[in-house]
Amino acid sequence: MASSDNQPGPLGSYNLFTADPVLPDAVRREGGDIGLLESFGERVGTEETREWGRLANKNVPILHTHDPFGNRIDEIEYHPAYHSILSLAVEAGIHCMRYEQSPGEGAYVTRNALMGLITQVEMGHGCPTSMTSGALMALKHQPELSEIWEPLTISRSYDHQLRAPDQKSGVLLGMGMTEKQGGSDVRANTSTATLGADGEYRLEGHKWFTSAPMCDAFLVLAYAPKGMSCFLVPRVLPDGTRNSLRFMRLKDKLGNRSNASAELEFDNTAAWIVGEEGRGIPTIIEMVHATRLDVANWGVSLMRQAVSQAGWHVAHRDAFGAKLIDKPLMQNVLADLEVEVEAATLMITRLSGAHERMEVDEHERAFARLATPVAKYWLTKQSNPVVREALECVGGNGYVEDSIMPRLYREAPLNAIWEGAGNVIALDVERAASRNPESVEAFLDEMDRSRGRDPGLDERLDDLRAHFAAPLSEATARRLIERLATTWAGTLMVEHGDPAVSDAYLSSRIAGDHGSLFGTLSAGCDLVHISERAVPVS
Ligand SMILES: Cc1cc2nc3c(=O)[nH]c(=O)nc-3n(C[C@H](O)[C@H](O)[C@H](O)COP(=O)(O)OP(=O)(O)OC[C@H]3O[C@@H](n4cnc5c(N)ncnc54)[C@H](O)[C@@H]3O)c2cc1C
Repeated sequence: MASSDNQPGPLGSYNLFTADPVLPDAVRREGGDIGLLESFGERVGTEETREWGRLANKNVPILHTHDPFGNRIDEIEYHPAYHSILSLAVEAGIHCMRYEQSPGEGAYVTRNALMGLITQVEMGHGCPTSMTSGALMALKHQPELSEIWEPLTISRSYDHQLRAPDQKSGVLLGMGMTEKQGGSDVRANTSTATLGADGEYRLEGHKWFTSAPMCDAFLVLAYAPKGMSCFLVPRVLPDGTRNSLRFMRLKDKLGNRSNASAELEFDNTAAWIVGEEGRGIPTIIEMVHATRLDVANWGVSLMRQAVSQAGWHVAHRDAFGAKLIDKPLMQNVLADLEVEVEAATLMITRLSGAHERMEVDEHERAFARLATPVAKYWLTKQSNPVVREALECVGGNGYVEDSIMPRLYREAPLNAIWEGAGNVIALDVERAASRNPESVEAFLDEMDRSRGRDPGLDERLDDLRAHFAAPLSEATARRLIERLATTWAGTLMVEHGDPAVSDAYLSSRIAGDHGSLFGTLSAGCDLVHISERAVPVS
């Protein structure tokens, strides 16, 4: 609560799910479990959980390469707060829930929304839950491995002891693709895999980034005689001995500090093949599709949390004789941010529904193929200016580590880099358009359902159809994605948005009555109503 010295105080405990002005209805439309989300929203909105987030980032992981006697151990020490937040996520099933029901029954939508809520509080722990969830898709290519690892992965028990799989009540899985020579260009990788007489592969080489190195096993890419192949590399071998994986050092990162990211080296490291030799990229690609959805989701959760913090501050801070939220200029800034976050929430939840149903519905599969890179590109990039402007709403306090704002600000650029940096994602949009033309049709058809609601939107839809009818140009792929993203958001707004927010979106983002920074909506927009939606009330 605000004190007599005009300091608004902390936002305090609030229900992150029910406080969101658009998420509950969006989740309901896509078939998610509202009751579960209401209780989880309350749990993660407590001051205790948010304090875990702060502590886990303040007390960064430590690498111990050796024990006191000089033996190699390669273990990571995490602060208890990190274990607490990761344990909450695992017990909620964020790493496995999509496999607990059949596709289309709503578990994946629920899980994605759960993840969007908890990563508002702490993003770093999202990395292992995301990779674990995605990795199972790849492991299904190797039934004998899946038989052992799937039940352990689907377990909701958080067991962080480094032991052989049969000694564990639950496991987490990581992924190592990036090498020094190439992250985006994984074909430039040089790590090799050789099949030994015992039928096991042995790896030599390195990985330049391997996050969540405490995981029980990693999916990695390495060159086998028949080409780039996918392998499962366990930390501990079935006989209980440690596999020879060497962590060289942890990266000293701008943000995402609770999550360790290691440089690792293989030294005659035991590995089991996943899928066919030479088919490594197709084997791992479904995992990447899933983790890109998660990363886009984190972009939205950073925006939501930042704008909620800004809303709280300006609703309780006086300046020049009135609350900041009653000042027309601040109303415009906050309303403009809120418009962006609500559009982002509608996009990610619609995409979540498409991923939920894509195994049982052809339209959804085709739609998700194009919509996933569009969302990954747009939502992760937009979170940067949104978080920055929201930080400024909080004034000097927003620049100080006592608030969550510096942490949100440092997290924001990462989502646009990992799981494919912006240009790589833009190239994937072009690839989808040329190799999967049905994905373009599905995307355009879906947007066409909103024809006749707004002349500017209709004009955009015509332009986009004409654009796809001509050969695409690599150099202008970013322009195309921007138009796809904002047009898609416009159609979602007219279908499902609050009328005032939808009007503001269409006039600013579609008709172009907007400046180049936030706070430039036209005075004709209902700034009071929209800005009030940014203040969390649960
Ligand atoms: C905190 C963190 C954690 C990570 N964790 C993991 C992990 O657990 N596992 C893992 O495998 N990787 C991980 N990564 C690596 C990450 O996925 C890569 O950094 C990312 O894919 C980019 O690859 P790169 O760093 O090699 O950059 P590059 O591939 O060199 O790209 C540099 C720039 O060039 C652009 N570019 C690339 N190709 C083209 C092109 N053809 N045309 C135009 N522009 C292009 C890119 O968009 C980018 O902006 C992590 C990275 C970070 C920062």
